[in-house]
Amino acid sequence: MLRRAVFLDRDGTIAEDVNYCRRPQDFRMFPRAGEAIASLNKAGLAVVLVTNQSGVARGHLTEKTLAQIHQKMMDELAEYGAGVDAIYYCPHLPGDGCSCRKPGTELFHRAAAELGLALTRSYVVGDQEIDILAGHAARCQTVLVETGPAPCTSDAARPDHRAPTLYEAAQWILGRERSSTRQLSLALLDSDSACPQ
Ligand SMILES: [Mg+2]
Ligand SMILES: [Zn+2]
Repeated sequence: MLRRAVFLDRDGTIAEDVNYCRRPQDFRMFPRAGEAIASLNKAGLAVVLVTNQSGVARGHLTEKTLAQIHQKMMDELAEYGAGVDAIYYCPHLPGDGCSCRKPGTELFHRAAAELGLALTRSYVVGDQEIDILAGHAARCQTVLVETGPAPCTSDAARPDHRAPTLYEAAQWILGRERSSTRQLSLALLDSDSACPQ
């Protein structure tokens, strides 16, 4: 049974976008991000971080430091009883022509294969147009949050939903999940009653 997932962008979505976070002490999670992720965990959704980290290719930080930053994030999440199932990042430059940098979808497909995820029943949450474009290309539902340094006001990206912060994004996702579960059980009841005894 494939799991549903919520793919989260990191900078501007979970934590402040501080223009290349280079040290663990510069990583600052948004208020209620931990609570939001805990609610997704509790609903049985896989939570997967997908983040562009070109600061690595630019020499601003090493992959070892990036791992320390992510360890700090996981430690802070654990205080809320929250966690991420996996972290995927692209370390390349925008001009490198890789297929893992969002809006490329390689990391989403890698996660789906490694974690057993159903992309068409999953969600992407991010603060930039590239997150939404990647979500569309991966055939996920998309939520644009307004916590980035330059909130995306363009309609070109056409997210399925807009939310002020990750917290409201998670609420919306959980609402969708509840209504699809309800529809599924109604459909099952229907098919039961249609069955000749
Ligand atoms: Mg971002
Ligand atoms: Zn890449």
